[in-house]
Amino acid sequence: ASPHLLQEADQVLDPEALTIGFARRFAEYKRGTLLLRDPERLAKILNAPGRPVQIIIAGKAHPMDNSGKQLIKDLFHFVRGNGFRPKIVFIEDYDINVARYLVQGADIWLNTPRRPLEASGTSGMKAACNGVLNLSTLDGWWCEGYDPEVGWGIGSGEEYSDPALQDQLESGALYETLEQEVVPMFYDRGRDGLPRRWIARMKRSMSQLAVYFNTSRMVADYVDRYYLQAGAKFADLAGDGQGRAKALAAWRARVRQNWSGLRIEEVSSNVEPALHVGQSLQVTARVRLGRLSPEDIQVQCYHGDFVGEDRVEDGVFTRMRSEGVQDGVALYRGEAPCHRSGRRGFAVRVLPE
Ligand SMILES: *Cc1c(COP(=O)(O)O)cnc(C)c1O
Repeated sequence: ASPHLLQEADQVLDPEALTIGFARRFAEYKRGTLLLRDPERLAKILNAPGRPVQIIIAGKAHPMDNSGKQLIKDLFHFVRGNGFRPKIVFIEDYDINVARYLVQGADIWLNTPRRPLEASGTSGMKAACNGVLNLSTLDGWWCEGYDPEVGWGIGSGEEYSDPALQDQLESGALYETLEQEVVPMFYDRGRDGLPRRWIARMKRSMSQLAVYFNTSRMVADYVDRYYLQAGAKFADLAGDGQGRAKALAAWRARVRQNWSGLRIEEVSSNVEPALHVGQSLQVTARVRLGRLSPEDIQVQCYHGDFVGEDRVEDGVFTRMRSEGVQDGVALYRGEAPCHRSGRRGFAVRVLPE
């Protein structure tokens, strides 16, 4: 950069100003430029007399992701072209070390993913551990972690079929939250100069979020729910000289191979004009087994509210009982209880077991 620009760089960032951190991979769905949609409104927020706001942005795009790279370019031009240079800083080469400084130094952690595409949004959890308050779309972890006492949401979890409309509405909501809530609270100072309400929120955010949204809990969950169970199953299947694994594999191959020979040949029921609440519809089905046996399958009666066009909603199933096999056809019997009034529908289905 020119000496003039380098000199200017010394002037950027005010340690006392409300600092918004925004760091991420520049993937399209993360909407890195949502905050920049209305430059005039943004400039008003950043330059309000006595209530300065600054933004630190960091991020990389995947080398093959051209639209992500274009976003960074747009951002760069936006900052340069709109006189935002002292207020919006872009830090290159986002990595875990840059992230560490950012989540320690920001006041607000901004995340604007397009719902429902964010899997997690881990950086918001890192921010919370460091006393930074989150301002984010209700997506990923923030969909669970958000509570009006600990941070701010953008929108209330809606999903849109029109992304342009979604961007317009949500950027409006973002500006409004900054103008009406975030900035006033940050600059609401006591006689000692401390933002008491803000500090209370930081404490609540740390105590409420950090104990739950952290890697120790995540790893413990993986261990309890998946690794140990998968380990036990592995030991079970591998025992007996892999005998059980071999038997399972052979069963699966046999069922897969013979599944097309399976037929539900006939379904009948005691349908009368009406059943009363508390009664049950009796259902029978004849299932041609082909080369499978009743031990290989489970036959279910699936029933629920009939909503037209062969569709059932709020369905549940009851298991049907086998009542013997004759000439390769098994007779199954089951019932669909009517717990409430209204039109009901049912179907019979077969699953491997
Ligand atoms: C924390 C972190 C991430 C993950 O952040 P998300 O909010 O999940 O996008 C990505 N890159 C770096 C360098 C990080 O430190």
